[in-house]
Amino acid sequence: MPDEYLKYLQSLNDRQREAACSDIATPLMIAAGPGSGKTSTMVGRVLMLLNEGISASNILAMTFTIAAASEMRERIAKVAGKAAAKELTISTFHSFSLQLCRLHAEKLERTPEFLIYGHGQQRRAIIEAVRLSENGKSWPKHNVGMDSEESNGLTSPHHFKDASKKWLKFVTQAKASGKTPAEYSKMGNEIGAEILGNYNDILKSCNALDYHDLISCSVKLLMDFPEVLKESQDSWKAIVIDEFQDTSAMQYSLLRILASHNHITIVGDDDQSIFSFNGADISGFDSFRKDFPIYKEIRLNKNYRSTRYIVEAASCVIKNNKNRCQLKNVDTDNSSGSKIVIKECHNEDAQCAFVVDKILETTSNQSNVKCSFGNIAILYRRQVSGKVFQTAFRERKIPFNVHGVAVYRKKVVRAIIAMLRTTLPGCDDGSYRRVFKALLPFEKEEKKKVIDYIDKISTARKFSFISAAGEIFSAKVSGNLKRPQLTQGRKVLLTLEMISKLVHREQSISAVITSVANMVPQKYLLEQRAIVDVDGGKLLNEDNDMRSVLQYLLDDISDFLSTHFAAAEGEREVVEGDKGCLNLLKAFIDYISERESENFRSRRHDNETSVTLTTIHQSKGLEWDIVFIIKVNECEIPLLHEFNGSAKENGASIEEERRLLYVAMTRARTKLFILYVLTDSNWQMLQPSRFLREIPNHLREEQADIKKQDLQSKHHDISKGTTGLSADLRPNIRPSEEDVVQNDFHPSKIDEASTELTEFVEANFGTGFLKRFCVDER
Ligand code: ATP
Ligand code: MG
Repeated sequence: MPDEYLKYLQSLNDRQREAACSDIATPLMIAAGPGSGKTSTMVGRVLMLLNEGISASNILAMTFTIAAASEMRERIAKVAGKAAAKELTISTFHSFSLQLCRLHAEKLERTPEFLIYGHGQQRRAIIEAVRLSENGKSWPKHNVGMDSEESNGLTSPHHFKDASKKWLKFVTQAKASGKTPAEYSKMGNEIGAEILGNYNDILKSCNALDYHDLISCSVKLLMDFPEVLKESQDSWKAIVIDEFQDTSAMQYSLLRILASHNHITIVGDDDQSIFSFNGADISGFDSFRKDFPIYKEIRLNKNYRSTRYIVEAASCVIKNNKNRCQLKNVDTDNSSGSKIVIKECHNEDAQCAFVVDKILETTSNQSNVKCSFGNIAILYRRQVSGKVFQTAFRERKIPFNVHGVAVYRKKVVRAIIAMLRTTLPGCDDGSYRRVFKALLPFEKEEKKKVIDYIDKISTARKFSFISAAGEIFSAKVSGNLKRPQLTQGRKVLLTLEMISKLVHREQSISAVITSVANMVPQKYLLEQRAIVDVDGGKLLNEDNDMRSVLQYLLDDISDFLSTHFAAAEGEREVVEGDKGCLNLLKAFIDYISERESENFRSRRHDNETSVTLTTIHQSKGLEWDIVFIIKVNECEIPLLHEFNGSAKENGASIEEERRLLYVAMTRARTKLFILYVLTDSNWQMLQPSRFLREIPNHLREEQADIKKQDLQSKHHDISKGTTGLSADLRPNIRPSEEDVVQNDFHPSKIDEASTELTEFVEANFGTGFLKRFCVDER
């Protein structure tokens, strides 16, 4: 065995080493708690497979996020060398299946250029499916591929929108579990069967697959086509899967079929299963036991990541879950560390101020235990809770990076991607329509008129959108369009031609994207507020302008190239040149569709020098010295309404919410802050999360918010009708939350009784407003 391998395996503890080195022909399950070195052991397992003579190109490693995939490749490269790491296939389920489906597209009744429908397009197709089933009428086909917000006035009635939410969830679950319309029909769910059937037909007619289809179609390919199965089984002689608890039933089927050779290793922790809304199903562990009966199971129980207080507090929380299939006694040899700080804040601004102060304190040179920005993370349930931090960090010059993919949901970015897509064969009408919307330099109404006209001709003549546009702007059927509209339309077509030439010339894709982005008119950027309102890490770190959007895309290309080709900095250009720009562009667009559909998944954890802002879902598998979990309130964790699809509180959904807090708490190495707020931005009183009561007193240090007294006295005085509103507050102008807190209701200003003013408050803020000041004694 090479020295490097030996050294790595020696760095593992006995159990970890036993797992990594166990017989490769025996299926292996590593079940263990957070921070116990599961991922580290998995790296060891890959080294063993290589050592046993399985070629790197025959090893398939599955992870759940692009970030995790590239991190694993880097870790393996360090020990086994770049060449071996490059040969390995380290993939997410999405990109693995996408590749298989593209390769055999015709067997799925698609062309290899099929589209991948994201959330918006899926919803649109659902609305259409519901409509078809309810009244047999259909919208024109070309509208299906558009996002719901881009429906050009064809907005469906509310009825369909409401129904679509419900049915989208239904279809998602149907696809995750692999049920067909016929199966629903057998179960007596005729309507479900019909809608699922309609939906599938619509996607087929649009040459599209959705995110879940990619998995089920891969399974179908392997089950129905023996030659595909043989080819795949020959290719993948060993399979390892991290974060196994997040696999859906369908993904599990895929693994089971591929792993007929028994060279399979699964690694996971049922307590960290937090993707059930995406079909994740922890019964996969049981299925594994059943399907691979001679498996070996190894438990790891030493936490290497966190201090004792953190490990114990997290265990105290998770032990309240009843539905746990693998009871684990997680222990640690690490020092106790400091107690978990439970911080009460009177509102979100106060919460933010607290975090900012703490960060500046611990990163300053005066700090006893100086910590770098890169070792700090802020975790939250919903992206929106992180917004206020972005502003504050910018003001206080704290470098930060936001994990998230919201940037691909921005219309400007979608427009750039659509422009790129037009250069690929089989480009869809939706992309062309988006390009026209971005490039026509008219006001909205006029733009709509031109696009409607193209749609009209396209429907009437049964042309594609772009052919209709071609006819119109070459003046064959100019109809009632005005001269400037025709001229601009022609310019759009010319621009598309230019882009196509750009791509076909030998250019790097970075250069193509830069040029294409520069073609988006300023007017459109302004219209979309892209230059002030762009989500996603570096965009908000830098000037809020097009340059940052571009920077984000270019960074992503470098992530993409390194993930897909494991190329070092110097090799990238060679790879680009070698493969030809068009092929790379195709692959890049697929990659983006994955980023888009990853919903909660993160970009590469590459920013070592800045504070990370991320949702808890994105933080999986990662770790930081100092972690702040913010807004740990009822209605956030647990979040029990339509946000996570669980309309009402039930045992299972509460347990999933508890797991979410557990994942968050176990990201911290040395210091954990859990914060909650007393009021939200609408002045609604909020309760701290019920889960906080599960952390025993001896592990926690509570910090109250002195401002709470202000809130109470406010309530007291207002309820007596002694409120004194500032004279600046003009009727009908609702004050900002900050104004209300800092000025109008400050106790020093509450000095005169006035029924009139109470009436004014009620008229302007609603009768419930005063009641909200009823602060509970805690
Ligand atoms: P999670 O469940 O959060 O994904 P995990 O079980 O995959 O966690 P790792 O990320 O592999 O855990 O390891 C957690 C930390 O512990 C890492 O910093 C890793 O380097 C360290 N670690 C793992 N095993 C050992 C060991 N045997 N000795 C020292 N440090 C270790
Ligand atoms: Mg891990």
